Amino acid sequence: MAGGPFMSTDVRLPTHNIVRPDKDTFLDEVNPFDAMMSRFDRAAELLDLEPGLYKILRHAEKTITISIPVLMDNGEIQVFTGHRVLYNTSRGPAKGGIRFDTDVSLEEVTALAAWMTWKCAVVNLPFGGSKGGVVCDPLKMSVGELERLTRRYTAGIISTLGPDSDVPAPDVNTNERVMAWVMDTYSMHMRHTVTGVVTGKPVEMGGSLGRRDATGRGVTLVTKEALDHLGMPVSDATVAIQGFGNVGSVAATLLDRRGCRIVGIGDRVSSFYNPDGIDIPAAVAHVKQHRSLDGFDGGQQISGADLLTLDVDVLVPAALENVITTRNAAGIRAKVLIEAANGPTTAAADAILEDKGIFVVPDILANAGGVTVSYFEWVQDRAGYFWPEDVVNDRLREIMTRSFHDVLRLSREHGVSMRTAAYMLAVSRVATVHRLRGVYA
Ligand code: NAD
Repeated sequence: MAGGPFMSTDVRLPTHNIVRPDKDTFLDEVNPFDAMMSRFDRAAELLDLEPGLYKILRHAEKTITISIPVLMDNGEIQVFTGHRVLYNTSRGPAKGGIRFDTDVSLEEVTALAAWMTWKCAVVNLPFGGSKGGVVCDPLKMSVGELERLTRRYTAGIISTLGPDSDVPAPDVNTNERVMAWVMDTYSMHMRHTVTGVVTGKPVEMGGSLGRRDATGRGVTLVTKEALDHLGMPVSDATVAIQGFGNVGSVAATLLDRRGCRIVGIGDRVSSFYNPDGIDIPAAVAHVKQHRSLDGFDGGQQISGADLLTLDVDVLVPAALENVITTRNAAGIRAKVLIEAANGPTTAAADAILEDKGIFVVPDILANAGGVTVSYFEWVQDRAGYFWPEDVVNDRLREIMTRSFHDVLRLSREHGVSMRTAAYMLAVSRVATVHRLRGVYA
């Protein structure tokens, strides 16, 4: 997300801080579709979902897989594979990012599209869920190759795209510039400019103010609500954050401004601990200059694994999926876990965290600030009328705070975790619309 494709000429960063579980050993535990389904199944059971609706919601509505021929800079043609999955559109146009990555698979894209369906529903946006991906290594491609790939991929999935049907956004290794190419390609086919076909665009061409900080801002808002709920003062709370990119660094900055003591931070390269509190503006400046935390001197260097098990009030995984597993969940000492990343906790680890009494704000709620401001962007594009940043931030606060309390209420009513309550809320909202609309025959 942090400008991935345009780093092709940069030196690759070392990766010795990686805490990703061994995929071979954990294949079952880290399978993204199984992880999504096990949470969905639990919610469906508690909601006593009718068998017919259960069957409908287990399946993606539409799956497109295309071959994407691209003329490479060396004159050869290379053929890439791309997917776009619309999981559910009962509540409105599908919403979901496009990722460019070597690990992209149809199964992963489908799981992520389902995740987007639940995420949009939990914060009550009038959107369904989708996701797209192209199997490629963007770090090895030139800007020209990436532009040709993006345009041909867009043309290949154009039948699903549109402000009323399917609205992409940036995801892993795609960014504002890629969204500008998607918007331009779509507009050329429609023969007029259609800004609302993608979100996460540059502000100059219909993007929203406040979008860049929205996910980290949303993370900060739910952290405050969680601490208030638990009677823990925000100003004294100690925090550790894994990941110091777009989401992690914004969350660190805003939590620091609210008076939290950020005692641990880490990225792909290095992690640091400082019991007196890390100088967050200095860390942000370091990353801006050096592109990673490597060489930062604001704390004692620790391992990526130790960062996750620090004795803190709040742990914020804001890097990648499957970092809290059955291997390390018992060692987590934080009282509150705010899932800023998508899928940082495996389904198998949920029970361990629950037994330990850790208050978990699940990903589909904690990181929904991004898609919420994407929704604002879509609304502004369609109205052709743009809001000042403070209006965007105020409306984001309203939605995140209300959604946190919607989930908390349900979790208390049913005596279930915040994760289960969030899924129950999302699945019930999607199911209600299906019941009202009926099954078209
Ligand atoms: P980013 O690329 O800007 O930053 C990722 C950060 O994680 C970097 O600091 C990177 O060094 C670090 N990292 C990568 N591998 C690591 C490892 N093995 N150990 C420790 N740190 C590691 O990405 P982002 O936009 O900040 O997204 C972070 C997470 O939040 C992802 O899971 C993403 O799906 C999720 N998310 C992002 C948004 C958004 O609007 N950006 C919205 C919803 C969810």
